[in-house]
Amino acid sequence: MSVKIKIDESSVAFFELISEISGETITLCDQCGTCSGGCPFVNDMDLMPSQLMRMALLGQEDVLESKTMWLCATCNTCTVRCPRGLDVSKVAEALRLVKLRHSVDKIDLNKISKDELKELPPIAIIAANRKLVS
Ligand code: SF4
Ligand code: SF4
Repeated sequence: MSVKIKIDESSVAFFELISEISGETITLCDQCGTCSGGCPFVNDMDLMPSQLMRMALLGQEDVLESKTMWLCATCNTCTVRCPRGLDVSKVAEALRLVKLRHSVDKIDLNKISKDELKELPPIAIIAANRKLVS
């Protein structure tokens, strides 16, 4: 994902919004990269967890177009390893909430086929509904 950094009033407002929703002191992130190094899903992400934190810190709304926040499984591997005690998954969740509050769903449950419904465990559908649908 290529990113153009722009700092203005709206980026400050976006940073404050994500900070408020996540409850995380994002400014503590020193970009050590430990979170990215241990994330089990990093190979499928377009932004590494540390990059997600950087973009949130800089208030870059483009981060909402990243698939990283949707792929974060809240496994907490990064949280227990972060030397600054930050919870990246809470920042990812805050970003998802901003998107979902604009009624932008990540998936359309109506498009799951009958065959897929037979295969999928019900808990997966419930979890997807909670995480990916507004
Ligand atoms: S491990 Fe913590 S301090 Fe290091 S980059 Fe990730 S969030 Fe920032
Ligand atoms: S909580 Fe999310 S970002 Fe952190 S290691 Fe797990 S999947 Fe990766």
